Amino acid sequence: MRRQRSVDVLVVGGGPAGLAAAARLAASGAGTVEVLEREARAGGVPHHCHHGGFGRWGVTGPQYAERLVEDALGAGAAVRTGVSATGWAGPLSLDTTGPHGLERITARALILATGARERPRTARLVPGSRPAGVFTTGELQQAVNIYRQEIGTRAVVVGAEPVSYAALSALRRAGVEVAALVTEEKRPQVGRCRAAAARLGVPSVPLVTGAVVAELMGRGRLSGVRLRRGDGRDGRECVLACDTVVFTGDFVPDHELARRGGVLLDAGTRGPAVDGSFRTASPGVFAVGSGVHAVVPARVAAGEGVRVARAVRGHLEGVGWPCGAVPVVVGAPLRWVAPNLLSPGAPGSRFVLRTAKALVCPVLVVSQDGRCLYRQRVLGKVLPNRGLYFSGSWVGKVDAGGGPVRVALG
Ligand SMILES: Cc1cc2nc3c(=O)[nH]c(=O)nc-3n(C[C@H](O)[C@H](O)[C@H](O)COP(=O)(O)OP(=O)(O)OC[C@H]3O[C@@H](n4cnc5c(N)ncnc54)[C@H](O)[C@@H]3O)c2cc1C
Repeated sequence: MRRQRSVDVLVVGGGPAGLAAAARLAASGAGTVEVLEREARAGGVPHHCHHGGFGRWGVTGPQYAERLVEDALGAGAAVRTGVSATGWAGPLSLDTTGPHGLERITARALILATGARERPRTARLVPGSRPAGVFTTGELQQAVNIYRQEIGTRAVVVGAEPVSYAALSALRRAGVEVAALVTEEKRPQVGRCRAAAARLGVPSVPLVTGAVVAELMGRGRLSGVRLRRGDGRDGRECVLACDTVVFTGDFVPDHELARRGGVLLDAGTRGPAVDGSFRTASPGVFAVGSGVHAVVPARVAAGEGVRVARAVRGHLEGVGWPCGAVPVVVGAPLRWVAPNLLSPGAPGSRFVLRTAKALVCPVLVVSQDGRCLYRQRVLGKVLPNRGLYFSGSWVGKVDAGGGPVRVALG
């Protein structure tokens, strides 16, 4: 039997985005604000990232997470841990399960802040058997920092973006030798200093570029990875002996709950499509943070939580839900853009996009039905897995009755 109750605002996900939204809403008198977090502790990803670099002051992940939890509780929000939202019972009603049993919670506004997950080995279609010793960064960090498990002796890290270097430091902390960082890109997607520090550090870590993992080897326990250089046509392959491999980055928004609720998803981000006020296409449902576009620095996710609070207040006070939003779409080599809906009256927010291919000083063009709305030469390099932010100053020129707005980079 489900216990039924109501709140004003229900936030699913107790990471930086959800906690910041809850703190701001509770502090501004939005009524009963409740956060559901399925983990035993709230804080989201920072909770298990023991390295520094979080927030404006670069504190460690757990310190940052603790501060967010304190802010939310201090403002009067309820933060309930060990509670998962498992499905929908209505447009603004969620079924949950937790230590106190099954519940059905109905809200006046729902914020989805469910974060992102790294694509595991299976989703990357890496051939081979299913040996032990295969991790994503999140799994590795939980094993090292929270459960203090034995990891292995020699590892290969797949990826060379910021999160890959976080995996590298977790492996070092666990006393695991790192055989190499392997990326299919031509260069790492981090600043030169960070890449050099790994390459030249003690012990140094070789960086293998332009290579993919073609096979996981070993039965029972991983014994090595077969790497294929280039596009594979020249047949250059080699085997790196290792008992551990960490697949890093390649994040996908955790969109299962949104999908089950029929919330419109964006084809590029694969998270809920949102406008500049983080409103989805489902009235009363908002979405923020890495669950919308994976993956952003924690302070950006928390900033979105702060910004969504204003729109949620407006909704609670009776501001109508927009209908007839214009979609914003991208073409290759771009992967996605966010926000990806333009609603009449929504603020002209900043946009962020991701490319699949490195480009040097490209030109960014925003157009609608062949009409140029905005053009900008981007100075410097645009790299895969790094966000490129650009102004929304052109939003006022969009024809609300026109076709999709297209963003191109070339
Ligand atoms: C390995 C790694 C290292 C990073 N290092 C840095 C760094 O140094 N500096 C930095 O600024 N950023 C860093 N980031 C990025 C930063 O952690 C994220 O941007 C930030 O955590 C996103 O916040 P979020 O609230 O959107 O999502 P998350 O932090 O992922 O939180 C989402 C929460 O929702 C919960 N949840 C999901 N579904 C449900 C459900 N159905 N019911 C209940 N709860 C649910 C999850 O358990 C999770 O706790 C790192 C990310 C990773 C993965």
